[in-house]
Amino acid sequence: MPISTQLTERCQGTCELCSSQPATETYVVSPAEGHALTDQVAICSECLTQINQNTDKNYWRCLEGSIWNPEPAVQALSYRLLYSINTEDWAAAVLESVELDEKTQQWALSAFEKADTHKDAFGNTLENGDTVVLTQALNVKGTSFSAAKGTVVKKIRLVPDNTEQIEGKINEQTIVILCKYVKKN
Ligand SMILES: [Zn+2]
Repeated sequence: MPISTQLTERCQGTCELCSSQPATETYVVSPAEGHALTDQVAICSECLTQINQNTDKNYWRCLEGSIWNPEPAVQALSYRLLYSINTEDWAAAVLESVELDEKTQQWALSAFEKADTHKDAFGNTLENGDTVVLTQALNVKGTSFSAAKGTVVKKIRLVPDNTEQIEGKINEQTIVILCKYVKKN
C-alpha cells in the first residue's frame, strides 16, 4: 500500500522502524484493517523484507529506538517484533525496559494468541456434548452425504487440535463439521 500524505507527514519520509531508510511502504499492524492512520506504520523495503523473513535477528537492534516512538502503532509493531526474537538476551532486555500502556501491549501480543476455544457462527463458545443446528446445508465432498440447513446435531465433540472443527453424528454417520456453520442450540 502506498504511503498516504498524512503518514508521510508523521514519519517525515523516514522508516519508523529503522529510522535510516526512506519510508516506502505502509505496514498495517494486525488485526486492524489499516483504514486509520493510527493502525499504520511507515516502513522501508528492507524492514518489510525482514518482517516477512525474520532471519537476521540482529537487524532488529533498530527497534531499541523505535519502541520509544510516541505512536502506539509503532510501539506495538516494535514490541511484537522484539517479542518474536525474545530468546535473544538483548531483545528480552529491551522488552523489560519499556512500559507500554496496557492496550498497546495487548495489541502487540495479540499476534501470538492462539484461539483456544471452539466458537459457533455467532461467537458462542461450544463445549463437548452441546447440541447445535446447521446454519447451512452440508455436503461432504466425495460422498453422497448431505444434510439440510437446520439439521440438529446432538452431543457434538470438539476436535482437540483444531478450534475450527467439531464432530457430530448426522444420519448415524460421524462427520467433521466446521464451527462457523453451526449455531449452538
Ligand atoms: Zn526500515
